[in-house]
Amino acid sequence: MKILFFIFFFFEIFKSVFASPEMAPPSYDFRINNKRQQAYFVNFETATYNITFDIEKKETRVYSEIKFNSYAQGFPIFNLADEPTNLILDGEKTTSQKIDLKNGQNSERILLTSVAEGEHTLNLEHTISGIFVKPVFGEGTINSGFFMHDFSGSFLQSYLPTTYEFSQYEMTFNVQVIGSTTSHAIFSNGKATQISENTWQVKFPKYYNTSSVFFHILPNKDVITKDFIVVANGKSIPVMLYKKIESPDDLESIATNLEADIKEFTERFGEYPHEKFLAYVSETDENSGMEYTAATIADKDSMKHELAHSYFGRGIMPADGNSAWIDEALATYAAKSGGGNAEPSKVKPSNMANRGPFCTTTDAHGYIEGINYLTNLGLRLEHGDDPWMSLEGFLKHWSQLRMHQTITTETFKEDLELFYGINLTKEFNIYVYGKSIPKALNKESIKSLSFKSKFERFQLQLLQ
Ligand SMILES: [Zn+2]
Repeated sequence: MKILFFIFFFFEIFKSVFASPEMAPPSYDFRINNKRQQAYFVNFETATYNITFDIEKKETRVYSEIKFNSYAQGFPIFNLADEPTNLILDGEKTTSQKIDLKNGQNSERILLTSVAEGEHTLNLEHTISGIFVKPVFGEGTINSGFFMHDFSGSFLQSYLPTTYEFSQYEMTFNVQVIGSTTSHAIFSNGKATQISENTWQVKFPKYYNTSSVFFHILPNKDVITKDFIVVANGKSIPVMLYKKIESPDDLESIATNLEADIKEFTERFGEYPHEKFLAYVSETDENSGMEYTAATIADKDSMKHELAHSYFGRGIMPADGNSAWIDEALATYAAKSGGGNAEPSKVKPSNMANRGPFCTTTDAHGYIEGINYLTNLGLRLEHGDDPWMSLEGFLKHWSQLRMHQTITTETFKEDLELFYGINLTKEFNIYVYGKSIPKALNKESIKSLSFKSKFERFQLQLLQ
């Protein structure tokens, strides 16, 4: 079974490298000049964002250049909350039209020029209004964070033109602050190079998507930082913590815990999968407790959970909102030893992966229904004392094999099926897709369960 697993996985990975169109949302039908047309979610390849914080004008201007790939002839879709101007597509002027996909984002736009299949370049400009978190201009200073919130649908499109999570692309920020009287610091999960005082270039890894980027600029004098290196299984991981100067948080104790957590996750889920880790320690910030790739905003209590997301959610990344329940289920599992509540009465039907094709937000059912179902499943599928066949064993190998890829609920289900050699279609239809009512976990089946007190686990039959 183990060998088969690897062979299958090799095939799966090979397939998934080229599988972006399959992970993209379906095409969107719209009418233009009384003609029915098709719009497509395109795959971004690179994006360069030239961002200027103009302190005198209290304005943040962005000039973007995006290279994207269209899978078919049609009208490209991109995301931007603010109104763009001066749109140039492949050297020709164009315009865009907002569409409402009823997913809470309200930022999708169709470019009103049809393109052929293949590579294209879009240039555009906009001013960041900060629909989710506004840039704060002070006396000669700027404090601006491109913070996100995965439950409300506020992602990077609240600040920059971007696309959905299925697309992984290389982003570059050229940042400058003009009219400033003081020096500023940039905190990001990319590689930042300071070109001169208040001018930087930040390059983000190619595997990042729209939910990966962490970016925060604020005056140097307003922050306290703590740098250290964690060595985990031979890998050196630079870690930086920072907080606002007035914050009461104790960075020393958070650093001690974080070092232990990185070592624990390395042991359990394999090598820490990024170049570094950055944490904005904030108990009072209204945006606290949000994960990014190799970065977070968190208080001391949620730090371990948010670090776990650098494996599950922002290491292995959901391709859409219907797959984001996996992030919360697995980060909860990782940070809370023992996982969820496997008792059958706590395993409840849910449609957390079936909320419409354009869904981008995370379903909170992942925290409870998601982890309870997976914990219950893991206990039923354990093979004797073989740790490989536990949920823990699955996650260790899964995290290494799928790291830096986007996945869907179907990918996850297929990987579980391959690993355990079972068919989970009926169970997923009930507990994950909410398509049918549960049969196996009704009162009678609960009565007939055999309980193994030694391992505190319930033996359930898989649905056939
Ligand atoms: Zn979380």
